[in-house]
Amino acid sequence: MTRMSQQRASHGLTLTSRVTTLNVIIGSAAVLFASLALIALQYFSLRSALLDDLRTQARIIGDNSASVLLFDDAKAAAASLAPLSSLPHMQEAELRTAQGKVLASYDRGEASSDKTPWPKEGYRFGLTSVAVVEPIEFDHQTVGSIRLRAGLNILYGRLLSYAGTTLLVSATALGLALLLVVRMRKAVSRAESQLQYLAHIDPVTQLPNRHAFNQRLAHAVGRYDPARGEVALLIIDLDNFKLVNDTLGHLSGDQLLGMVAKRFSTHLRHDDTVCRIGGDEFAVILEHVLRDDSALAIAQKLIDALAAPFSLGQQEFFISASIGLSFYPADADDTAGMFRNADIALYAAKARGKGTVDQFASAMTERAQHRVSMELNLRRALEQGEFLLHYQPQVELASGRIIGVEALIRWNHEGRLVSPNEFIPVAEDTGLIVPIGEWVLSEACAQARRWQDRGLPTLSMAINLSARQFDAEDLAQKILRAAGEAGIAPERIELEITESAVMHNTAASVRTLQALSDAGFKVAIDDFGTGYSSMSYLKRFPINRLKIDRSFVTDLTADKDDAAMVAAIVAMARALGLEAIAEGVETREQYVLLQQLGCHQGQGYLMSRPLPAAEVEKLLAAPADDPVTAPGLSAVPGVPALAPGNSA
Ligand code: C2E
Ligand code: MG
Ligand code: MG
Repeated sequence: MTRMSQQRASHGLTLTSRVTTLNVIIGSAAVLFASLALIALQYFSLRSALLDDLRTQARIIGDNSASVLLFDDAKAAAASLAPLSSLPHMQEAELRTAQGKVLASYDRGEASSDKTPWPKEGYRFGLTSVAVVEPIEFDHQTVGSIRLRAGLNILYGRLLSYAGTTLLVSATALGLALLLVVRMRKAVSRAESQLQYLAHIDPVTQLPNRHAFNQRLAHAVGRYDPARGEVALLIIDLDNFKLVNDTLGHLSGDQLLGMVAKRFSTHLRHDDTVCRIGGDEFAVILEHVLRDDSALAIAQKLIDALAAPFSLGQQEFFISASIGLSFYPADADDTAGMFRNADIALYAAKARGKGTVDQFASAMTERAQHRVSMELNLRRALEQGEFLLHYQPQVELASGRIIGVEALIRWNHEGRLVSPNEFIPVAEDTGLIVPIGEWVLSEACAQARRWQDRGLPTLSMAINLSARQFDAEDLAQKILRAAGEAGIAPERIELEITESAVMHNTAASVRTLQALSDAGFKVAIDDFGTGYSSMSYLKRFPINRLKIDRSFVTDLTADKDDAAMVAAIVAMARALGLEAIAEGVETREQYVLLQQLGCHQGQGYLMSRPLPAAEVEKLLAAPADDPVTAPGLSAVPGVPALAPGNSA
């Protein structure tokens, strides 16, 4: 747990213990109050019982003594008072005639000096005794009175034992309740600390999580001391982590993250902070560093720490990381700015290639802003129909005939045709490629249908798909719908995908491609030879064509290795029953050599640049019997003529 969260936790605990103490005090006061109320109630009920007793006794003696009073018989009067002596609380008794003469009396002799005075009639309570005076009547005439005085000692004795019991019971109950509260408080504080832990620690790597990272960065910036150097923030992103997750499963992914975390931790000083701030994102906070190369060196050390392979079960796995670096206060004046700039630097590092580190520079902000404005413009372009398609012919090398076209998107932005290389990466990053891709699909299908309706020769239409489009579950349905709405046979459509696009989520990609292939669509691997190194996917995916990447064709005639590469790809394609088409054919020599190497088809500036639909139409509108030869080839006499003999 971090120091700050510990402080907060202990602060929370003292607060709860204070609240508990207050509750206990209030509870005890309530119990005490209730006990006192019960004792008071008991006192009044004992008092009224005693009074009832006395008055009943007075009445009984009075009734028995009426004739005695009438006859002024002192002896009989004394006899009627005699039974009172057996009552322990009775202190005094008197029988008086109507004239006030005491006919008989009884005195236990223990009445103290503060005797309760006799009332005129009725009763009077004193501190130590109660006095009762009842008139005695005979034949509706008062013939005398009886006076009784009883001590309250017995009442007080009973009250005392009642109070003792009540207080004992209350105290026991209170004690038990207190015990429960203390136990509960312990359980609650244990749960609280557990929650605190979970709120700040990432369970997969046991590193501080994003929440804790924010606090620590704020803390580091808060105690920044110019005399001791700057605060550096490194944001680390694992380059190919998604591949591990997708191919080996999430459990292995988590295991790998744990191992990566351990390597990072062992390569950092004790007081550097490393946190996991997202799926495959880590952050390192370095305090008191100079803005020289030392932070960069640490970043490089972390990249190097991943160089050795990780073993996951039986497999060994290589993983690399890209790092963005920013400093406080040189690059930003708060934590948010620091994070933003480290992120921009990370983006720049990724763009340079994997496994690199980049330090924030203000020029990067301009680039980032450019991206943001590009995104806005792309959205507008989609709404206002600024996209268009050009079509590049694909040629059968043997005959020079155009057999298909590839649809290539262009953006007519403020009078300039923007290359897809400029905006497709941004569209992919922002997800805009999904609606843009849908537009391409429906426009290319519609164009194929228009050509078909005009009776032009049957061509295949190649359409590029990007990785991001494969993330959508309904890609196959979308493509089927686009072809269906245009009324174009799926066999005429070829979908171009790159190796990396499908490797990124293999299981789902296989499903999508299989569904499309079952429906009749063709599939080509674009830029073949530049992507993923494993070729086992060639068996799993329903593929019809390999498009040999331009990089192998460019130096084909000069570089023996490139020629060997192309020959190998062509041989492999043939062995797997696939076609091979060479991209970027620019010269006659390349064309001829490709033909000799047995490559089936070609596409490139030699034959034709990508053209607007109307120009493709002019090209194709030759009499149907004539083979439509690519325009570039007619200017290269002899090339198609080489074809028949050399193509196998
Ligand atoms: P790609 O699919 O490999 O397309 C071939 C690219 O090579 C095209 O660039 C084409 O104009 C260019 N090219 C063809 N022949 C030659 C040649 O002889 N020499 C040279 N130097 N280049 C040649 P473009 O049109 O700029 O497209 C670039 C990339 O943008 C495409 O590469 C493709 O990955 C992507 N792209 C284009 N249209 C779309 C689209 O509709 N959707 C998606 N997702 N990506 C597209
Ligand atoms: Mg392509
Ligand atoms: Mg390509």
